[in-house]
Parts: sequence; C-alpha cells; structure tokens
Amino acid sequence: SRPHLEKIGTTIFTVMSKLAADCGAINLAQGFPDFQAEPALFDAAHRAMLAGRNQYPPMTGMPELRRAIADKVATLYGTQLDADAEITVTAGATQAIFTAIAAFVGAGDEVIVFEPVYDSYAPAIETVGGKVVYAQLAAPDFRPDWAQVAALITPRTRLLIINSPHNPSGALLDAADLDALAALLRGSGIVVLADEVYEHMVYGGARHASVVAHRELAARSVVVSSFGKTYHITGWKIGYVLAPPALTRDFRKIHQFNVFTVNTPCQLAIAEYMQDHSRHLGLAAFYEAKRDFFRAQLAASRFELLPCRGSYFQLARYDAISDLPDDEFAIWLTREAGVAAIPLSAFYSAGNVPAARAARIVRFCFAKQEATLAAAGERLRRL
Ligand code: PMP
Ligand code: GLN
Repeated sequence: SRPHLEKIGTTIFTVMSKLAADCGAINLAQGFPDFQAEPALFDAAHRAMLAGRNQYPPMTGMPELRRAIADKVATLYGTQLDADAEITVTAGATQAIFTAIAAFVGAGDEVIVFEPVYDSYAPAIETVGGKVVYAQLAAPDFRPDWAQVAALITPRTRLLIINSPHNPSGALLDAADLDALAALLRGSGIVVLADEVYEHMVYGGARHASVVAHRELAARSVVVSSFGKTYHITGWKIGYVLAPPALTRDFRKIHQFNVFTVNTPCQLAIAEYMQDHSRHLGLAAFYEAKRDFFRAQLAASRFELLPCRGSYFQLARYDAISDLPDDEFAIWLTREAGVAAIPLSAFYSAGNVPAARAARIVRFCFAKQEATLAAAGERLRRL
C-alpha cells in the first residue's frame, strides 16, 4: 500500500465506542448526543419522502436549504451570502474538510494545523500528498501563539486550518485572534479552512467569532459547519461550506466527483426546521447547563477540570488518580470504572504523542442526558 497508509490506524472514535459497547460502559468518548432531536424534524423528513422528494438534489445542495443557511448567516453574523455561488451542502463536516483539502492542497504543499488537532485533518492532508506543519496549543488555555504561526509560514504554505470552538479543548478564538490571523496572511495566497462545527456552543455569554463575519479573512476562507452537532443528528451526516465564489467553484470541482450531492429529504427537513432560529440560538444555554451539570458531578472527584468555553467536550487531568499514560488510562477507565473517554494524545502527531500521554488528560463528551452524566459522575467520583 502507499507509504502514508501505514501511518493511518483506526480512528480513536471507532476504537473507544467499540470498547465502551463491549464493556457496557457509559460512552462519554465519541462526541454524539444520547437524546433525540425534536419530532418536528423527523415529521418534515417523512413528509418530504412521501411527497416524492427522493431523487438527486442539485450538486450544490437543495436551494431551500442553501437559502435557509444564507438567512441564518445573515441574521447571526451580519454577512449576506449568495446562496447559489457561496454555499454548498456537504455530507457532514468530515466530507467538507476532506474535499476542501483535496481542492486546495497539492503534492508538496504545506498545511498549518494547531495541535492538539481533530483527527481527520492530517490523514486527509497526507492522502493528497501535502505536508502537515504543527503549531502548538498548550494546556490549560490552548491559546494560539500567532508569532509561532508566523514563523511556520513558508512559500509552500497553501492552507491553514483553524477550529473554534476547539475540539478537544473547548477553547475559543476571539475577534482579536481573527485580526491577528488576517494580518499574518495579508499579501499571501494562503487559504483558511475554518472548522466551526461547534459555532452554536459557546458559553459564559461569549459570542462565536465566525470567520464569515470577518470581512478580510472571509475573502480567503472556506468555513465548515455541521447540522449533526447543531440539531442532534450526527447520523444524518449533513453539513455545509461557505466560501467566496472563486473558492466555492474550486471546492465544487472536487465535491461533484467526491459525493456529487447529499440526501434530498433530510436536506428539505433541515431547511424547514431551521427557519425557527431559536432552535440553534437555544443551543448555547442548553449545552452550558450540561457543561455545568457535568462539572458539578466531578467537583468532588479527584479529576482536575480544565476550562471549557465552548464545544461539548470537557478535558480533565487525572494525575491524582493514576500514573498510567492517557491511552492506557482511557482503556482502564472504560473497563474498570465503566466510563469511556478519549485520551488527549489521540489528537497529537507521532513525535508529540509521548509528551501528550504523560500529560495525563482525557476528554469527556457532555452531550448526554442528565441521568447519563449523573451515572458517570457517580462512577468517576469513586476513583
Ligand atoms: N470537525 C470537528 C472539530 C468535529 O468535532 C467533528 C465531529 N466530531 C467534525 C469536524 C465532523 O463533523 P461531521 O460529523 O459533520 O462529519
Ligand atoms: N467528532 C466527534 C468527536 O470528536 C466524532 C466524529 C467521528 O466519530 N468521526 O468525538
């Protein structure tokens, strides 16, 4: 097989969900809700199916859905996008990210990412022959150091990937970060891929600093979001990409031969459901309550909680509980304590895995019913 495939193992999310199922453990590892979305969403999908809306949609996505996305973006971020030329519906954020990388990165091109890094970026970059260049985010705040990023830029840099709210740390980029990034890239041809799948999950009254709202940065950016996160339907695998017309044209060149298009009735259902903006605007308060509930569960435990400003993930240090490196601890925790978590080292490149394992931090997902979080809390407090 091609040499880069040797480096690609099985994603940690598959590994930990299987182990959790095998052990009958509470799964706070892979990020997905354990509760249902509202029936109105399923009614809308059912009606679309019965109405015969079951054939291929346009390659770019259903016009109804693209208009609904444009409407949301205008309301939330004050930017009026052209639904035909600047919005593309994708099979979740994962496909959007892979397709964007395939569209913008060629053999030998460099892509800057921030470590800890979401697990799909590096394999995608290396699959198309690109080279991954890592900037570091350090615990507990996981803040980017823009001077460090500046030093990593070379004439081969083609793409820079940001992710806010950040998986796995829950850190946020603020407006000043976007200004710093815009200044850094001024005059270059570097494209920004902004992974904003957790855009509606920001806490403490913070506002999500979307790249879409940043005029200068938006002009060179591809912004990715996911309805799976926003409407509690990770299994529907529908998301979207926002990008200026020229970048959208390039994105669609690959998109049309990658998936061509995505599930018609589900697109129509989401288009109808999202007209009521309270459904995504309510998400911050909804998940902030879950974050606070989960943190309260662990307050009397020996876990040390790191800050969480966004996303539905909580990092926790366990050095008062165990000397095991994080991957072994995550397996032990699943088997012996009955709670599955993700080792933070899963989000690091090979050279940095030893230090990450020794940092002894795991990630819990709190997108769960209170009863689930309470049951997990009880088990975790015994350690
Ligand atoms: N990016 C990040 C940061 C994520 O956390 C996830 C999902 N966990 C994705 C992309 C993929 O989203 P989707 O399920 O829509 O493919
Ligand atoms: N993004 C989710 C997480 O971080 C998992 C997505 C997946 O399973 N590929 O847990």
